[in-house]
Amino acid sequence: MKYDYLIVGSGLFGAVMAHELTKINKKVLVIDKREHLGGNIYTYNKEGIIVHKYGAHIFHTSNKKVWDYVNGFVNFNNFINCPLANYKGTLYNLPFNMYTFYQLFKTKTPQEAREKLEKEKVKYTTINNLEEQALSLVGKEIYEKLIKDYTTKQWGTAPINLPSFIIKRLPIRFVYDNNYFNDIYQGIATNGYTELIEKLLEGIDTKLNYDFFTNKNNIEYDKIIFTGQIDEYYDYKFGPLSYRSLRFEDEYLDVADFQGNAVINYASNQEPFTRIIEHQHFNFRRGPKTLITKEYSESWTLGKEAYYPINDEKNNNIYQKYLSLAQKDNKVIFGGRLGSFAYLDMDKTIEKALELFERIKDE
Ligand code: FAD
Ligand code: UDP
Repeated sequence: MKYDYLIVGSGLFGAVMAHELTKINKKVLVIDKREHLGGNIYTYNKEGIIVHKYGAHIFHTSNKKVWDYVNGFVNFNNFINCPLANYKGTLYNLPFNMYTFYQLFKTKTPQEAREKLEKEKVKYTTINNLEEQALSLVGKEIYEKLIKDYTTKQWGTAPINLPSFIIKRLPIRFVYDNNYFNDIYQGIATNGYTELIEKLLEGIDTKLNYDFFTNKNNIEYDKIIFTGQIDEYYDYKFGPLSYRSLRFEDEYLDVADFQGNAVINYASNQEPFTRIIEHQHFNFRRGPKTLITKEYSESWTLGKEAYYPINDEKNNNIYQKYLSLAQKDNKVIFGGRLGSFAYLDMDKTIEKALELFERIKDE
């Protein structure tokens, strides 16, 4: 059988593309080298607990079209992400808001907090890196306690070596509001995200434990949609791009509730992990047992799972070289967070997939 499209990767990008292309009668095969569908949004059920195998995944978007799209397949609950930060044993609210300012500075009103932050902020004429960005937004105390060590653990290098945009994702608010996101819509797939992927891929041919590079000559197809690493696809000919990898350490505990919250970040160097997630809280479940995951950030080397692209200048330049090759290549289209070498949240991943579909649907 000859397929119109071979889709490499059954993550969110590959699954949305497969779904949309199948709807217009294209013959599609989805392959994945992992043993399950869903890529990093894969969830599974452990005795009633829906486990986010590759780290906490909270759906949030301000795009109504995307929100309606996912709700057309599965139900979402009304989970709001309110993580805490543990710095050397003391807990602080995130994102930086009136609760955090009260905990750190004892300021009670927005005006007091604004005045205090103005005094704390370091003034720069130009911002050159994440450290300067953070110091100019929130000042020394918040930077030292809640950003510096966490960021160093997360990225494996000091904030002075990192691009400033990374920290701009974090809101700063002068109201008492611990919602980590600013988006209009937020929630978690009630039965887990695997159900969403399964619904998207209903009736579509899939092959698991099936690596593209070892099997590409065994399949007949016209075009490839590739959601793995673009540098790997081109055999690292311009050198490997840089990524951060992650290690997840699960513990299934005989306690009803371990930490009373879904996500607690560990902001100092006292702990080697960046955060602990307690999965049952994503679905408002309480005991009798609980599963927690400690997330460790690690350096990436060839052969390891790549999670976060490192979008610094050097890597973005290398990526541009791969991109120009790709633009001349009629056989393959790249997409998703590894194919486009970009940190994409789930909503953006869907947006990009739907945009690509619109572009290629008449080909
Ligand atoms: P992936 O899910 O990575 O899918 C790519 C698939 O391709 C994988 O299954 C892989 O096995 C397969 N593949 C790769 N190479 C090959 C090959 N050679 N042969 C066969 N198969 C191959 N987004 C949010 O909106 N909210 C969150 O809270 C959130 N939290 C996150 C937390 C973490 C720790 C991480 C890493 C990401 C988070 N995200 C979050 C982002 C979210 O995971 C992505 O938006 C989404 O998974 C991207 O989907 P994708 O299809 O591009 O990539
Ligand atoms: N960050 C931090 N302290 C925190 C949480 C985040 O310094 O407690 C910084 C860190 O540099 C991180 C960035 O903010 O890389 C973006 O955080 P976010 O939670 O959006 O990252 P992700 O969920 O992708 O890990």
